[in-house]
Amino acid sequence: MFAEIVAPAGWRTVDLISDLHLQASDTATFGAWQGYLETTPADAIFILGDLFEVWIGDDAATLPGFEAQCAELLRTAAERRPVYFMHGNRDFLVGAAFAAQCGLTLLDDPTVLVLHDKRWLLSHGDALCLEDTEYLRFRAQVRTPEWKQAVLARPMEERRALARSVRAQSEDRKQSPGMVWADVDPDAARDWLRQANASTLVHGHTHKPATHALGDGLERIVLSDWDVTAHPARAQLLCISSAGAQRVDLR
Ligand code: MN
Repeated sequence: MFAEIVAPAGWRTVDLISDLHLQASDTATFGAWQGYLETTPADAIFILGDLFEVWIGDDAATLPGFEAQCAELLRTAAERRPVYFMHGNRDFLVGAAFAAQCGLTLLDDPTVLVLHDKRWLLSHGDALCLEDTEYLRFRAQVRTPEWKQAVLARPMEERRALARSVRAQSEDRKQSPGMVWADVDPDAARDWLRQANASTLVHGHTHKPATHALGDGLERIVLSDWDVTAHPARAQLLCISSAGAQRVDLR
């Protein structure tokens, strides 16, 4: 059974965002996110993974710096409304300490959100990209408590260096000729939707915003990533309400 969150009757709109890939070097996207958090009228915010380009451990946010700035913004936002956080493949090391520091509620992947009698199945999306078997093996390894504990026990500077080298490897892989990014497997998505007794899957991860019909009235809505330095700039959320789902461009 998938985890389930039943929205209180008073919620009118819920924002879904993912794949902001926040990092200290991209102050423009950070600024857009800050402006968004300070102005959104949503009754709840669901972050569906890869909020951060990389997360090396919750202890990083206890020192002055970029992670602490992000924590402060999240804490202020979460004082005004619930903020939920689902892990992505970049920030899967976000833990209970950071959630407590910011007032976030951590979400299982996937989770069903019941809003106005409709069931929305929420996921980051990476677990459904079945073609990328190499990544799925890596994912299975690094999500174990043993792996996480072993990495988090290393000195912070060592973890920063490790993150840089993993990122460089991933950039190399992106440049390699013939590289095709795996997409969400439609059969797996349908299977999850049936298990969840839901008709709409919302996910991020692939950076290919679109709405795909999956047959039998099922669909998947793919969230946009954020990059305010791109042309045109990308900073988009999905707002869901009793009227359905609507994309809102902030730039
Ligand atoms: Mn991702």
